[in-house]
Amino acid sequence: MPLDMYAENLIRHYEKPHNKGKMEDSSASMHEDNPSCGDEIDLYIKIEDGKVRDVKFEGSGCAISMGSASILTDFIKGKALGDIEGLGKEELFGIIGIDPGAARLHCATLSLKAVKKAVLEYGHKGIDEKTKRL
Ligand code: ZN
Repeated sequence: MPLDMYAENLIRHYEKPHNKGKMEDSSASMHEDNPSCGDEIDLYIKIEDGKVRDVKFEGSGCAISMGSASILTDFIKGKALGDIEGLGKEELFGIIGIDPGAARLHCATLSLKAVKKAVLEYGHKGIDEKTKRL
């Protein structure tokens, strides 16, 4: 598939985001922002039996940040927390279907950073270097 078809998928998610909204009874939540672009996200995860039972997000920002959040939240549903802890930016690019380039890197990684911080905090684990560098 040509690159622009992947980008089209991202734009579709931006225009009609999945998993958008608030969650009152979340197990873990996280706020993350990307000052360089003005993107921000509030993420809510419901965890049961070590797996993501449900996930929601609210936020505002560019097409890359919000499109990525929509695709990533779809992806992590049902996943084990251990699998999510191992995700890095290479895996993220595979999931969202584009490599955003250095200039837009933090737009793309915003939601992954929020997801990983929420999951690590839930597990009483420190924020590792891989997550910090996202
Ligand atoms: Zn952005």
